[in-house]
Amino acid sequence: MSDCLFCDIVARTLPATIVHDDGAVLAIRDINPQAPVHVLVLPHEHIESAATLTAAHDGLWAQMLHMAQAIARDEGIEQSGYRLLTSIGRDGGQTVPHLHLHLLGGRHMMWPPG
Ligand code: AMP
Ligand code: ZN
Repeated sequence: MSDCLFCDIVARTLPATIVHDDGAVLAIRDINPQAPVHVLVLPHEHIESAATLTAAHDGLWAQMLHMAQAIARDEGIEQSGYRLLTSIGRDGGQTVPHLHLHLLGGRHMMWPPG
């Protein structure tokens, strides 16, 4: 076990419901879903947040986006629409300091998110 929840899920030392894994990017179901579809898309590599991404991660970031697009298609929410978001730090509401995209859909999303 490491000191990072999502690194442990990547390493399969913690269980999760895995939606997809391409070896560099993992998608899991959120344990506390906020919408009918709530999937987290995260890199295998431990990166704290979108704020610590560098140009070296451009390909990985694109890979995360493409996986989110594919999952939205597979989950049947591509046409109805969905929300992709990533939280950064305390005021951003980030609770797990390992970069992840929330893919939320299957209901109408509100704004502001709170
Ligand atoms: P954030 O607050 O943006 O950092 O998002 C962290 C997300 O991880 C929250 O939506 C949690 O519900 C979710 N989460 C926490 N623990 C787990 C877990 N063991 N498996 C799946 N999702 C989790
Ligand atoms: Zn991590």
